Amino acid sequence: MSDQSTLSTPATTATGPLPLTGQVWMNGCLVPMEDATVSILDHGLLYGDGCFEGIRVYNGRIFKLHSHLIRMHCSAESLHLEPPYTLDQLEQAVRETVEANQIENGYVRVIYTRGIGTLGLNPFTCGTPQTIIIAATIALYPESLYDEGMPIIVASRPRIPIACLDPKIKGLNYLNNIMAKVEALKAGVYEALMLNCDGNVCECTGDNIFIVKGDTITTPHTDAGILHGITRQYVIDEVAPALGYTVQERRLELDEVVAADEVFLTGTAAEIIGVSHVGETPLSGGEVGPVTKALGTEFRRRVHQSAPED
Ligand code: PMP
Repeated sequence: MSDQSTLSTPATTATGPLPLTGQVWMNGCLVPMEDATVSILDHGLLYGDGCFEGIRVYNGRIFKLHSHLIRMHCSAESLHLEPPYTLDQLEQAVRETVEANQIENGYVRVIYTRGIGTLGLNPFTCGTPQTIIIAATIALYPESLYDEGMPIIVASRPRIPIACLDPKIKGLNYLNNIMAKVEALKAGVYEALMLNCDGNVCECTGDNIFIVKGDTITTPHTDAGILHGITRQYVIDEVAPALGYTVQERRLELDEVVAADEVFLTGTAAEIIGVSHVGETPLSGGEVGPVTKALGTEFRRRVHQSAPED
């Protein structure tokens, strides 16, 4: 019997339908989806060599577009991948793709692959990096989980340490996260909390984590080795302060997560989602707590009213 049969419900994720038609922006041109292909010799395919961003569109405005593109170019720089486009050119290309696909509310994926090279590792044998921009619709988790709260587990596999490959680089190789995601799916849940090699709390496979204890909101410091989430930063800078909270960034222990009043996750696709259980432990009585609810409402109000594009 295949291993697949042990997967329970969330094994098929609720990620939105892929646009089977539509225009993909590739290396300067909009091309029909079916013509948007990459070479089998692209190191993006051969080695997961490249970087990407996932960006949300709300009522035609592109949420934190500049921050995403800056992070994209920082990732590229860390990988010694010279971006084929300037930030301004990339911004125009994203806008063009959103418009061509008439995306009012949706999701944009921006990708640099290393480009076509040899079968060896050497990235400098590759030609120009390929630039791909896909605009799609999205629904990461079932809507009911936003009301009921989402159970998560603690992955047995640690997050890759900064010294090996800094998780702040949003690289195309997500195997560390995918293997932890498999642990979650096999346990019948969608997300897994990853610790770092020192045993401290890092982040989930595709989301950052926050805890609420009393009047205090805390999230792991970036030193833990996490993706510097753009939603995370927006919650720290704008959403939490709007409700009178200051977010502490510090080293966070797993015990504190399990003993928290509330736990919530943030991400471009997830937005703000409350956690109902960490493993067997229920949080806020196995429901979404009041602070998480208030933050989620405030987040959605802001982005739907006029999403900041800075
Ligand atoms: N951590 C990881 C590993 C991620 O892949 C993501 C994005 N899906 C996040 C955190 C959240 O980051 P952002 O808010 O920038 O989407």
